[in-house]
Amino acid sequence: MSLDLHPNDLSHVVAADRAHVWHHLSQHKQYESADPRVFVEGKGMRLWDTNGREYLDAVSGGVWTVNVGYGRESIANAVRDQLVKLNYYAGAAGTVPGALFAEKLIARMPGMSRVYYSNSGSEANEKVYKMVRQIAARQHGGRKWKILYRDRDYHGTTIGTLATSGQDQRAMQYGPYPDGFVRVPHCLEYRKQWDVANYGERAADAIEEVILREGPDTVGAIVLEPVTAGGGVITPPEGYWPRVQEICRKYDILLHIDEVVCGLGRTGTWFGYQHYGIQPDFVTMAKGVASGYAAISCTVTTERVFDMFKDDASDPMGYFRDISTFGGCTAGPVAALENMRIIEDEGLLENTTAMGERVLSNLRALQDRHPVIGDVRGKGLFCGAELVADRATKEPLDEKRVQAVVADCMGQGVIIGATNRSLPGLNNTLCLSPALIATPDDIDRITDAIDGALTRVMG
Ligand code: PLP
Repeated sequence: MSLDLHPNDLSHVVAADRAHVWHHLSQHKQYESADPRVFVEGKGMRLWDTNGREYLDAVSGGVWTVNVGYGRESIANAVRDQLVKLNYYAGAAGTVPGALFAEKLIARMPGMSRVYYSNSGSEANEKVYKMVRQIAARQHGGRKWKILYRDRDYHGTTIGTLATSGQDQRAMQYGPYPDGFVRVPHCLEYRKQWDVANYGERAADAIEEVILREGPDTVGAIVLEPVTAGGGVITPPEGYWPRVQEICRKYDILLHIDEVVCGLGRTGTWFGYQHYGIQPDFVTMAKGVASGYAAISCTVTTERVFDMFKDDASDPMGYFRDISTFGGCTAGPVAALENMRIIEDEGLLENTTAMGERVLSNLRALQDRHPVIGDVRGKGLFCGAELVADRATKEPLDEKRVQAVVADCMGQGVIIGATNRSLPGLNNTLCLSPALIATPDDIDRITDAIDGALTRVMG
């Protein structure tokens, strides 16, 4: 069945959406007075809705996913060809695209060696939490079962991953949560918690303080985003990551890097952690792996960790007793193979670095003219502008006006994002994450829209 609809059918689609679809992250009261927006088509960085209205998408599909842009026929064709050949097999056997994508991925991740497939970022992270707990049970006599997570980071929407949500509003009212997840402070220098010169090392030392308080023999792992995404685009201060690695090694704590947003080129390298010279024990990824052309996530680990699950066949508990039904879909890895080829052949890592610098330089120019921009930060094509009511006190701009800026840009046909109902009192950072194919004109159009929006909203 083709979904090429007659224009008359499109009003029916909107009515069906309004009547039956429960939108993610949405307060539905708004649809009593306005139609929900329903997208019909995408090409490159552009989207069209049911009214035929065109948008420039600066958030890659709402949540930083469509890294290579919309309408990629080569991915669609590769998926189609694979589906008619073999769509699926899960359990204790592999598939051709699963094997070939794992090989290509590992070639870009020195020190890593094994890929475990599932189909969402939350699920990929849950796999690590289970592995860490099983390692604690089998290698440490049940100790080392705690997992540290950081204030303002986010790792998913399941009860397990919400237990590691550093974004309070995401987790509130869905508890109680399982035990053994312990929060460490964030590292955002703009909102300093320590008045010191070597801020990065000090923020990492705060992790060590938590480890010592909890007891190093009880802590098995720490999960961290390389650049905190939805928590406000937090780039790590100088000196932070080397010290984090040192602390993990000192106390034999496994380092889990959540690359669900930063992975596959978003920050200008294949993975965000690769900017900082660190060697993780686990890396999880999802959104950009297949740019939203198919659902796929990966939990990647080292041969050292893998070996801990390779006990002899006589032990019924000596392996990772886990399955992800749709981790056996071949659409994911075949789309991911083509996605990776596109990033490489079109030089999208280099483009991301260059265009990211352009976003930051445009935002800094806006900061000179708009006192409401308190801080500008970012890495590659993941950038943020933190809005404040007062630059001296850094009082966050109220969420209503932040959302008015986002809505004004939407009115201009430019989709931008903002930290949204995740951090009480701190939902004040505009987030930009265009596709890695963005051109200088696209970037200028996005920041021009923000310029106009700030002028109108702030009067
Ligand atoms: N980790 C990070 C850093 C995320 O931003 C997200 C989602 O936004 C997730 C994990 C969860 O991914 P998913 O929604 O695919 O479960």
